[in-house]
Amino acid sequence: MFGPPGAGKGTQAKVLQETRGLPQLSTGDMLRAAIAAKSPLGQKVEAILAKGDLVPDETVVGIINERLNKPDAAKGAVFDGFPRTIPQAEALDRLMASRGKQIDLVIELKVDEAVLLGRAEQRVKETVAAGGTPRPDDTPETVRNRLDVYRRNTAPLVAYYAKQGKVVTVNGMAPIADVTAAIARALDAKAR
Ligand code: ADP
Repeated sequence: MFGPPGAGKGTQAKVLQETRGLPQLSTGDMLRAAIAAKSPLGQKVEAILAKGDLVPDETVVGIINERLNKPDAAKGAVFDGFPRTIPQAEALDRLMASRGKQIDLVIELKVDEAVLLGRAEQRVKETVAAGGTPRPDDTPETVRNRLDVYRRNTAPLVAYYAKQGKVVTVNGMAPIADVTAAIARALDAKAR
């Protein structure tokens, strides 16, 4: 599941987990869990996430490798927020190949930047209204940095996977159910 921060990757990955039994492998969730647990990994990455910068490639590749060893990932998975750099994508190709597997499909969720900024603000408001603590990296300044980081480091991955003929682009500004339906069509077409 590919796209800028706030594009709806997590929302759609969760749908695929429910409907197709494909576990959602979200590096962002894994890193936030490490921070909440105050583990050595969490302490190492907390300031990086707060700024909206990228955690070192070897760190996220390591946690994804460990995660892929769990039995639930054996029959497929949805990667959410990973890979985020070309070296991460190359490492993932190697991790997959060593398991006799491959990336089948890259769903690119396309959303305009102005919409993304509004979504982050909305997520903060909704979390506060529900009595929760908003993500520290959803402040407007940090969201801007996350978008810059995305443009610079992550957007080039579309070309990386397009060269392999794996990219399907979906309009991430359509209603959630329409996005879900478009992704389902892409997956079903691939399976045929
Ligand atoms: P979003 O897609 O909304 O930016 P994520 O939960 O995917 O949110 O990521 C939150 C933060 O976690 C990122 O800004 C970054 O600091 C860190 N992170 C997550 N995945 C990666 C990754 N693959 N490589 C480097 N840093 C990552």
